[in-house]
Amino acid sequence: MKQTERILPEKLLERFIRYAKIWTTSDPHSADSPTTERQWELLRLLSAELEDLGVPAELDENGFLIGRLPARGVGPQVPTVGFMAHVDTSPDVSGEGVSPRIHRRWQGDAIVLRDDVVLDPVQMPELAARKGDTIITSDGTTLLGADDKAGIAEIMAAVEYLQSNPDLPHGPLEIIFTPDEETGKGMDRFPLERIQSRCCYTLDGDELGTLEAECFNAYRADIGFFGVSAHPGRARGRLINAISMLGSFLEMLPGSESPEATDGRYGFYHSVEVSGHTEKAELTLILRDFERNEVERRVKALQAFASAVEAAYPGGKVKVSWVKQYLNMREAFSEDPLVVELAQKAIASLGISPVLTSIRGGTDGARLSELGIPSPNLFAGGHNFHSLTEWASLEVMTCAAETVLALALLWGEFESPAPA
Ligand SMILES: [Zn+2]
Repeated sequence: MKQTERILPEKLLERFIRYAKIWTTSDPHSADSPTTERQWELLRLLSAELEDLGVPAELDENGFLIGRLPARGVGPQVPTVGFMAHVDTSPDVSGEGVSPRIHRRWQGDAIVLRDDVVLDPVQMPELAARKGDTIITSDGTTLLGADDKAGIAEIMAAVEYLQSNPDLPHGPLEIIFTPDEETGKGMDRFPLERIQSRCCYTLDGDELGTLEAECFNAYRADIGFFGVSAHPGRARGRLINAISMLGSFLEMLPGSESPEATDGRYGFYHSVEVSGHTEKAELTLILRDFERNEVERRVKALQAFASAVEAAYPGGKVKVSWVKQYLNMREAFSEDPLVVELAQKAIASLGISPVLTSIRGGTDGARLSELGIPSPNLFAGGHNFHSLTEWASLEVMTCAAETVLALALLWGEFESPAPA
């Protein structure tokens, strides 16, 4: 790219606020797709806005919206690239009636939204670092929904820019807006067969310049404890208490490998739910690690702990079952390193140092990477997600939209397969 293309911040802000005001909270307890009817309102609006920009858009029955920008001014070998964001907001905090507050050229004072809802830069170094920016918050009664409407607004702003500058060459682009990311169910009905992208960038990160290309490997384990019940007055030599078995099992989990005791690249065992009675008890754990052999070591260890409990409680049984939830995206990028390289190049083209980081969690991008479409996560400018103090910087959001634009143009220069 010869020079950085510019996105107009004021138009981006107006767009973001339009989306933020729409109530799109998802519901993890619903079996519908989308899990809430209200997500349709934003999906339909985005579909209409894409069409208005001259981008054909298809909205399927499960709430997946795909817009397609045909290639322009490039050869037929240029690959299709996707940009993805989610329309729902977290059910942890109300997203009804969001009323954004704009703090222009914020001077670094505490932002008091309500008596008990304060954004204090002393306790929020990421906020302190954005002194002088236009900061957007809610009014303190709801979340803001920058997660992920900042991502949506940035992608839409880049699309608008491309459509109003038809002399800029780019390859085919797929714009993908999904429901229910926050429920973890969003990818279950993902229309993979309709996607042609060689890779996809999710716009769902936070800090300026960050590019997340690694996440945890994730397994869930359910442990069943089967005891033998007896009248407590005549229990000696007869009762085998499933709850005691569960307690012994819990004590075997290494405290040094818990979420409370780890950070950085260390993984963990995490107990998330227990239920049961004397005869039968159940424990659910999640296992996480950046290294697959480490997470699999923990799965095996659970079996060893189970055998040890059985040995300590003759007659009692322990059954371990487990399921893989998602894998570290890193493997997908080692097969197609250009995906991360071009993202770093796009960020650097704005004069920002790209920061390659890892997520101590997962994303829809991790699921998509596993399905064969490498999908790293780009910064989108929001912070304090899922809370009343959620905020976003308009300057960082503008850089994110320009990164999308730069990526679209950079991929347009790439012909695959490369001539020998
Ligand atoms: Zn998100």
